[in-house]
Amino acid sequence: MSTALHLERGEDGVVIATMDLPGHSMNILNEQLAAPLRGLADLLEDPQAGVTGLILRSGKKDFLAGADIDRLRALNTAQEAFEASMALKRFIRRFEQCGKPVVAILNGQCKGGGLEIAMGCHWRIVVDDGRARLGLPEVKLGLLPGGGGTQRLPRLVGMQQALQWMGEGSDIKAAQALASGLVNELAPDVDEALRKARAWIVANPKPVQPWDAPRFRYPGGDSRAPAIAQMFSVAPSMAAAKSFGNYPALTHIMSSVFEGGLTDIDRALEIESRYFAACVVSPASRHLIGTLWYQLNAIKKGASRPAGLPRSQVQRLGILGAGMMGAGIAHVSAQAGMQVVLLDVSQEAAERGKRHSQDLLDKAVKKGRSTPEQREAVLARIHPTTDYAALAGCELVIEAVFEDRAVKAEVTKRAETQLAARAVGASNTSTLPLTGLAEASERPAHFIGLHFFSPVEKMPLVEIIVGKATSPETLALGFDYVQQIGKTPIVVNDSRGFYTSRVFATYVMEGIVMLKEGVHPRAIEAAGLQAGMPMPPLALQDEVSLSLGVHVADQTRKDLAAEGKTYREHPGEAVLRQLCEIGRVGKKAGKGFYDWADGDKTLWPELSRHYPVAVEQPAQQEIIDRLMFAQANEAARCLEEGVLRSVADANIGSIFGWGFAPFEGGALQFINARSLPAFVERARELAAAHGERFAPAALLLGMAERGERFEAGC
Ligand code: NAD
Repeated sequence: MSTALHLERGEDGVVIATMDLPGHSMNILNEQLAAPLRGLADLLEDPQAGVTGLILRSGKKDFLAGADIDRLRALNTAQEAFEASMALKRFIRRFEQCGKPVVAILNGQCKGGGLEIAMGCHWRIVVDDGRARLGLPEVKLGLLPGGGGTQRLPRLVGMQQALQWMGEGSDIKAAQALASGLVNELAPDVDEALRKARAWIVANPKPVQPWDAPRFRYPGGDSRAPAIAQMFSVAPSMAAAKSFGNYPALTHIMSSVFEGGLTDIDRALEIESRYFAACVVSPASRHLIGTLWYQLNAIKKGASRPAGLPRSQVQRLGILGAGMMGAGIAHVSAQAGMQVVLLDVSQEAAERGKRHSQDLLDKAVKKGRSTPEQREAVLARIHPTTDYAALAGCELVIEAVFEDRAVKAEVTKRAETQLAARAVGASNTSTLPLTGLAEASERPAHFIGLHFFSPVEKMPLVEIIVGKATSPETLALGFDYVQQIGKTPIVVNDSRGFYTSRVFATYVMEGIVMLKEGVHPRAIEAAGLQAGMPMPPLALQDEVSLSLGVHVADQTRKDLAAEGKTYREHPGEAVLRQLCEIGRVGKKAGKGFYDWADGDKTLWPELSRHYPVAVEQPAQQEIIDRLMFAQANEAARCLEEGVLRSVADANIGSIFGWGFAPFEGGALQFINARSLPAFVERARELAAAHGERFAPAALLLGMAERGERFEAGC
């Protein structure tokens, strides 16, 4: 029938349709696949064709990954989005109303549009080989499932469960899918699944979908059921309290489920398409798709990796310093299959580092996310030691000792005596310029920065820092290693604070300046959250500690003086010093801007004695703009100065590194979204009112004049 869909017809009239999109590692719902699927509906409806049933399966390791994002991206108007959504479900509807049994065999990933098609089949069998993952993750791209997902899922598993899965975009494992009623059977392998599918077809020659049966009832009740109505009376406000209205897809999903639950399936599907269209044209979804799909994929494919160099794989990794960061790096690397030599000044300290891994793995086993065998295998790969000779054979050694130049220089030198000529040395420094650290190395071309974030096992980003002498081969190895441990690399050139720490600091420091100026601390904290940041600025500074802020400022001042440069003090720095002087150094001491007790925090009541609240308060939008423009402008400066090498790295680094409002699409996309001229104008206003730090980066002035915007890849 087509190269994307292979048909095989048995003597019993059962057709096995195998999706196998040529040239793609996964099946996606593009026109090449959608067209023959529509043809399949014709075949099923044709009484002359003699088809007795259909088994829909995949020839790839996954069933169907979902919609073709390129097609989605091309939808420009709400009307186009509505039509596209209706077209998809028209053919799914034909499957379920054809009067003949249609069975889906689900293997591997069955997400988004893939699961929506599966729910339109009469019977679903999952190949339960440990790889099966179902789900409707559209919300992560600011969308809702527009192929009937918001209607069929609640009709299968109940509204509450459906809202949870769609609201979080979570993965659903085979056992959960079966227990909830989302699928009907599990099979250990494809052959058994095919056997079961045939048996079901024979036993059910004229199936009807539950929602097409006359007395259909939602499991757990429809929108009118008292418990459900009660849930809907609070769920939207709870979601809004969390998202501050920045993610319209969340409320659209709820509305679609609620309104769909008041009517029949056909009207409900139409309602869904209207909300889908609203999502597609929302700026949040455009930004999320642009950055978290296109730019992230470009990074994953190696856009910032030197071209033409062969891929490398680290087999043996050395880590110097088994503290908080070293232990975390050891854990994720051993989990990725590497042998890890974990070195510290005493055997006890090194063992303590390994224990971190033990604790994490114990928790994972307890929660059923890992097995005792897997835990032992990972632990067996971590070798705690004090002996530098154990580093022999390591392709990469990462230094994570104290943030002290002399200590770092010493361990770097000692490690190098054990390493092969091609091996790479890396530093996990968070503040010390890399080129200076590389001076301790005999071979600076083989030296690089790998800036991890804390906690290592949770944070998705590693900022790779290229020193003046770092070679392309060294960068390639660093890049490959970061991908080997399943994290996302961004690549930046050496500079004080690199990219992430430098821009992140502008956010917290702006919050602190406003406090000093008399803005109410509660208004500052609320503004951070309203802007879409994961934590408010003052609380965040408490987390990273005020004393660290002072320490970094002192170090920078000293370094710049040594280089003969002037240090420009940030107006918020004085606040950090004042609070540190009275012992309020942050969360670790239980007191900073907040009082911290038993995992709870309350703003320090005395704060207003030190920083009196002004009688006249600024508009909330002014506070939000200050927090966000400070970051975006600094990111633009990083690009202008060549610290950043690409727009994609800037956007992804900001979201994955310090949680820059994801719905904005990242720190540079924030500027695009407002248009460059509008950003420049507002930045000038802010500079006039609050200080030169807001003066728009020179790069932006030129771009605004030329009518340009930040394009990924530039
Ligand atoms: P830490 O104090 O928890 O651990 C440092 C470890 O290094 C200790 O176990 C110490 O015994 C060991 N050490 C000290 N001198 C040594 C030597 N001569 N030989 C071998 N081991 C030695 O510190 P950390 O928070 O893990 O930070 C380590 C590095 O990572 C620092 O450079 C820091 O700036 C950087 N970093 C930290 C964070 C963070 O959030 N903590 C984030 C990114 C980067």
